[in-house]
Amino acid sequence: MSVKNEPSFRESVDLMFNRAVALMDLPPGLEEKIRVCNATYTVRFGVRLRGSIHTFTGYRSVHSEHMEPVKGGIRYSMGVNQDEVEALAALMTYKCALVEAPFGGSKGGLRIDPREYEEHELELITRRFAYELAKRDLIHPSQNVPAPDMGTGEREMAWIADQYSRMNTTDINAKACVTGKPLNAGGISGRVEATGRGVQYALQEFFRDKRDIDKAGMSGTLDGKRVIVQGLGNVGYHAAKFLSEEDGSQIVGIIERDGALVSEKSIDVDAVRDWIVKHGGVKGFPGATYVENGVSVLEEDCDILIPAALEGVINLSNADRIKAPLIIEAANGPVTAGADEILRDKGTVIIPDMYANAGGVTVSYFEWVKNLSHIRFGRMQRRQEEARHQLVIDELQRLDDYLGDAWSMSPNFKQKYLQGAGELELVRSGLDDTMRTAYQSMRERWHGDDKVTDLRTAAYLVSIEKVAASYRAKGL
Ligand code: GLU
Repeated sequence: MSVKNEPSFRESVDLMFNRAVALMDLPPGLEEKIRVCNATYTVRFGVRLRGSIHTFTGYRSVHSEHMEPVKGGIRYSMGVNQDEVEALAALMTYKCALVEAPFGGSKGGLRIDPREYEEHELELITRRFAYELAKRDLIHPSQNVPAPDMGTGEREMAWIADQYSRMNTTDINAKACVTGKPLNAGGISGRVEATGRGVQYALQEFFRDKRDIDKAGMSGTLDGKRVIVQGLGNVGYHAAKFLSEEDGSQIVGIIERDGALVSEKSIDVDAVRDWIVKHGGVKGFPGATYVENGVSVLEEDCDILIPAALEGVINLSNADRIKAPLIIEAANGPVTAGADEILRDKGTVIIPDMYANAGGVTVSYFEWVKNLSHIRFGRMQRRQEEARHQLVIDELQRLDDYLGDAWSMSPNFKQKYLQGAGELELVRSGLDDTMRTAYQSMRERWHGDDKVTDLRTAAYLVSIEKVAASYRAKGL
């Protein structure tokens, strides 16, 4: 979404970058080296469909190769263009640095409306796009590793992985050429939910520190907080589901393509998702009130606003009317640079995209490691862990028998304690640790330096320092 008189998405990212860099003391020239996109490749290819040749335009932008492989999703949307993939690639660089995923930043996109094609047609198009990228090493386990993004998912990643394997029949690490694959094609448990799960973990960490809660003029915990989510795609759906089911938050608004749903009581996220699958939109959903002008719901009263759809949805035209004291950017770039300034002046706290949605690439990192190590996480230690826990349980059981009515183990304790961690538990634990640690590094800056007045600047500072350090280590 672009609004008149506002910079483009890439310019908006650059403006935010510049704000942070102004507070740093980088060697001359390094700032520009980090900011600019190294290369953007445009590929145009034809696919024979329905009796004629259709020409498609795709991009893969490489923002920074201070670490390789470079990493970032592939988006399928009619809105894809060079400016957008470059902005998204830049965000990938900062995101990976912030959460210590050892990658440079990249992003790809194909200008297509996937809903207009049959599955077998999408497969042909995806395989051809993958071929064009792979033959230029823009898909490669040690150079460039794509992942899902808007409009793509496990299915497309499986096609890409298979296409790469066909072109590189002796590469033992071929599966690591792309992440976000289905479990049966080399994927990892917990990747689909990862970005939404990361949003949940980010909010949990925010509510662990009173200073942060105070900054937003809030109190208490996630329990009972009224949440509006924009976009019930993979990220928005999982974030809203986990927050309502596990943290007691109330989903009071859901904004979708065809309008929005609002309700005093928490909306059943799964029921809405099922409704969308069946009816193509939220209109007519029985459990809430339908609002035709969906975007207006961004301005409704709530505690937490989660934009989880497109970039630029909070912009100069609506920023001053946003009431939420806390915004968490589950999408990439949902707040323009101009809107960011207005919101900062109002005292709105924004948990920035490069941190808030980093759960996806974090679990992609785990998947890539799994593919390179050729073994599922937890396979070696799970039963050993269970056997050791059994020893403790046996001892406690002896105590329980001895003490009779005076003491006994809590119900379910045995069963819970006995269970060794499988891959899903390990992935969630690694993700939680990553989200906490990265948040803490931003928090330290936010509260520790008077010149840092917002979390976005703090996030940029932490990540630019890391990127700069790796350039220095390379002798640049
Ligand atoms: N597309 C996601 C993002 O914007 C995931 C990228 C990845 O897993 O490499 O962060």
